[in-house]
Amino acid sequence: ATPTALMVGTGRGAQLGILIKGPEVLESTRKVDTVVLDKTGTVTTGRMTLLAVHTADGTDETEVLRLAGALEHASEHPIAQAVAAGAAERVGALPTPEDFANIAGLGVQGVVEGHAVLVGRTKLLAEWAMELPSGLARAKAEAEAAGRTAIAVAWDGEARAVLEVADAVKDTSAEAITRLRALGLTPILLTGDNQAVAEAVAAEVGIDEVIAEVMPQDKVDVVKRLQSEGRSVAMVGDGVNDAAALAQADLGLAMGTGTDAAIEAGDLTLVRGDLRAAADAIRLARKTLGTIK
Ligand code: ADP
Ligand code: MG
Repeated sequence: ATPTALMVGTGRGAQLGILIKGPEVLESTRKVDTVVLDKTGTVTTGRMTLLAVHTADGTDETEVLRLAGALEHASEHPIAQAVAAGAAERVGALPTPEDFANIAGLGVQGVVEGHAVLVGRTKLLAEWAMELPSGLARAKAEAEAAGRTAIAVAWDGEARAVLEVADAVKDTSAEAITRLRALGLTPILLTGDNQAVAEAVAAEVGIDEVIAEVMPQDKVDVVKRLQSEGRSVAMVGDGVNDAAALAQADLGLAMGTGTDAAIEAGDLTLVRGDLRAAADAIRLARKTLGTIK
């Protein structure tokens, strides 16, 4: 490859909203056959909304929103922001937590108005030997079957509520998947969210393969496993929890709308957060190198 031809390739990339770290990136871009896509913030907008609150018998909805909202207000996770905003909208000013910890991939825990509060996956509650009463378990199953994320709320040793949150698939995602397939790539959806939600999103954008309920630190192992099967893997992500997987992938594509950690770990940045640019990048790399070999 001549330096001039590569410069033409990267210049065209900038026009398409693709920032390339260096000319050597084009070579790996040309070779990839599998594209692993993070769900939240990559395939979906990541802007979630609180849609519904289901409470256990005898639990006051306002109390749920005050305690869960207060704790989530301290977290930057898209789900947390939706819960905090939805709670503030419904009950007004939220208390300040006395203690707070973010548990990556699971939720948040802390102390609010003297109560030990947990908000997150049922797996987080299970770690404290709590489970959902049957009414809430039913609400969770129904929400997930509809493609929504169900978040459990517990305090003082008891599961008290299920919150329903959802975000929308980006309107460019389905077309992006069609274009990636046309380039011969196999798309795989990878997420920490649950299987039912992941399958609903995958179906909406035309992805057949789903790897769900993966802990943030385990995303990198999914990429390694695919590579050990002989695949050349592109990974697209936006979150802090995607950074290691982006670095491990043969080609890491970071959403320009995502976190600095993801952008630093990636080889390419999709400036506008439009997944179609991933297909453009691969087509451009093949074209650039193809013409000069
Ligand atoms: P993704 O891989 O889709 O970007 P994460 O790994 O960040 O998602 O989170 C996985 C799951 O953990 C979420 O779908 C949610 O159920 C739960 N979770 C994580 N953080 C929070 C939080 N702050 N509040 C509630 N639930 C959370
Ligand atoms: Mg994400």
